[in-house]
Amino acid sequence: MSETVTKRVGVLGAGQLALMLAEAAQTLGLEVVCAGQRGDCAGRVAPVVEVDLGDAAAVAAFAATVDLVTIESENIDAAVLEGLKLYPNARAVGVAQDRLLEKSFFRECGIEVAPFAAVDSLADLELAIASIGLPAILKTRRMGYDGKGQVRIYKPEDAAAAWAEIGELPCILEGMVAFDAEVSLLAARAVGGEVVFYPLVRNHHREGILRTSIAPFVHEDLQSLAEGYLRLVLERMEYVGVLAVEFFVQNDTLLANEMAPRVHNSGHWTIEGSETSQFANHLRAIAGLPLGPTDSRPTVMLNCIGTMPPEGETAAFPGLFRHDYGKAARPGRKVGHLTFPASEAAAIAEWQRRLGE
Ligand code: AMP
Repeated sequence: MSETVTKRVGVLGAGQLALMLAEAAQTLGLEVVCAGQRGDCAGRVAPVVEVDLGDAAAVAAFAATVDLVTIESENIDAAVLEGLKLYPNARAVGVAQDRLLEKSFFRECGIEVAPFAAVDSLADLELAIASIGLPAILKTRRMGYDGKGQVRIYKPEDAAAAWAEIGELPCILEGMVAFDAEVSLLAARAVGGEVVFYPLVRNHHREGILRTSIAPFVHEDLQSLAEGYLRLVLERMEYVGVLAVEFFVQNDTLLANEMAPRVHNSGHWTIEGSETSQFANHLRAIAGLPLGPTDSRPTVMLNCIGTMPPEGETAAFPGLFRHDYGKAARPGRKVGHLTFPASEAAAIAEWQRRLGE
């Protein structure tokens, strides 16, 4: 019998993405250790070492105790990531954490994006409004997530107020897209270059936060267009691990909005909906294991924002999977998700039947 080499995977961060990576690791014979803070939710399944993720020396000391390092958030300083055995690599993380680099990179790859311009001053903003037009969205280049760091501008005279509201930080101005749908594509690339794709997923956001993901979004042409785009990004970046790219669908084409160099909320449905979850394939990719198949069934994923629904309510749905991250309730916080392996129509019908709505 051949002996499996257990790899210790260090995750920078100990939130719900680290938690679900740690759960997947248990079935793969891998060990996950997280760098985070006391009380972080991944601590329910994996050891959490207290590390300040802004402290390069502390992160390097943590990295020295594991075989390789991955991330659950791209918002980590490039200087901290330098010199680590990091998957995906620091270049990919650096591009994904800065909206200007990200949009420019998409464009260099021939991937369509909404019109955008760099904004470093009020004068830049006024010029950008003149060239891009309104409505538009002013977004901070860094640290933007779940709709944070964004101000919508509808009238030219609102430029100064928007610049003040954003905190006069380096930004991009982006033309507002009247999209038909928002979708995302997840792919995993192995060390040897092998790539697998999941089906496109349709996403619904409210107040900038993902609320539901519905898999699959069936559109053969857009699936192959998106796969071609991700293949380009993955290869140009020599990327290893799971990558998610969010797109706007407009007139039967795709505009890339942003990428996440990690497992992604719009891929949580793969735990029950796919033969191999995004978490298992991310770990397989970075640990040098063969990637697993991504054959999937129709699945609906609902995020629980602020609080979990009462257990009695979710228990009424026999086919529903409840993921409670064990986080304290707080408005706007992702505290869990529900997965229902069914088509959107079947899920709505079941919901109405059970709750008599
Ligand atoms: P982001 O943080 O860039 O993903 O933005 C959060 C959400 O805001 C997106 O999922 C969209 O619903 C919306 N949004 C962002 N950028 C645009 C845009 N250029 N046009 C229209 N809606 C946008």
